[in-house]
Amino acid sequence: MSKVYFTDMRTKPGRNLLDKLETLIKKAGIEQIDFKDKFTAIKIHFGEPGNLAYIRANYAAKLAKFLLAKQAKPFLTDSNTLYQGRRSNAIDHIESAFENGFNPVAVPCPVIIADGLKAIDYKEIPIDLKYCKTAKIGAAIAEADVIISMNHFKGHEQAGFGGVLKNLGMGSASRPGKLELHSSSKPIIETAECTSCGQCVKNCASDAIHLNADKKAEIDYEKCVGCGQCVAVCQFEAAQPVWDNSADIMNYKIAEYTVAVLKDKPNFHINFIMDVSPNCDCWNCNDTAIVPNIGIAASFDPVALDKACADMVTQAAANLNTVLNVHKHGELQDVDKFKMIHPNTDWKAGLKYAEEIGLGTVDYELVKV
Ligand code: SF4
Ligand code: SF4
Repeated sequence: MSKVYFTDMRTKPGRNLLDKLETLIKKAGIEQIDFKDKFTAIKIHFGEPGNLAYIRANYAAKLAKFLLAKQAKPFLTDSNTLYQGRRSNAIDHIESAFENGFNPVAVPCPVIIADGLKAIDYKEIPIDLKYCKTAKIGAAIAEADVIISMNHFKGHEQAGFGGVLKNLGMGSASRPGKLELHSSSKPIIETAECTSCGQCVKNCASDAIHLNADKKAEIDYEKCVGCGQCVAVCQFEAAQPVWDNSADIMNYKIAEYTVAVLKDKPNFHINFIMDVSPNCDCWNCNDTAIVPNIGIAASFDPVALDKACADMVTQAAANLNTVLNVHKHGELQDVDKFKMIHPNTDWKAGLKYAEEIGLGTVDYELVKV
């Protein structure tokens, strides 16, 4: 049974939430890690601009200061997105992070986009598991000495909820890795949507895409390496991934990628169960939180931590005026709200598989701090 440490949202003068975060991570044993001179990746989601549910930069600053005091070399990091948006290349991604408060004024460590300028700077880490033989992990995360995950715990339309595993497994993957997690095939072109703009042709590093006689993009699958770059640059939703994995298989692959991220590295995980929005922070909006803010939880065990947080959301009464519609369904205490919102997902199967491949255990002891 793993220990999951938890602190609630109550504060008093001289003991604010930032103080409580530091107390929590110390009680959970973070100081057992030798940080001296270690490149320490703080894996976080900076939030798509317009979304306001992501973790506040103040918490990242507190953690960075703590790590600097331990003589670590911390950096905030995330990998670029698969789809087109304001985090799909390193320049836009850093600008978005700064805009959302993760800037040098607020946080005393650099922002490094893990998979580089165009999301194809990755290390292939052998894992030899059922769905993925290797994992394509953003280079800065793959090369880090220590991994600390700061995870906004909330709903997710494909995974059920997003916690440690989603942030690390999907969030650390380079674009080709994300394509592998979402799909087992290379992208396709929806020719009806193609405007012949040629952006995909210019940006394909493998020279695998051209405009055909009808002036529509066409992929040469002999040359295509499945990097997903055409998907990211296409402004017209013409270059598309083939979303052919079931939600369960995606969760299994996310667990396998998490194995790759944490392989042979000291690691520690913190979930912020606040602003528990129904969907991912990749959206440029956040719908009303489904439950009141619950607190912060930390553990060395990513599986136990996610399970404990999912249980806390299950046990909580639902907020008024949310997608859950308490006027119709009642307070929904002890109801799996993530399953209600995303009925085609099964987070329990994902955690069970994570346990089977040795990432941790769903059995936990909750220690209140
Ligand atoms: S970027 Fe999109 S719209 Fe432009 S040519 Fe390529 S597929 Fe067509
Ligand atoms: S996925 Fe294939 S066609 Fe698209 S940019 Fe990458 S290599 Fe080129």
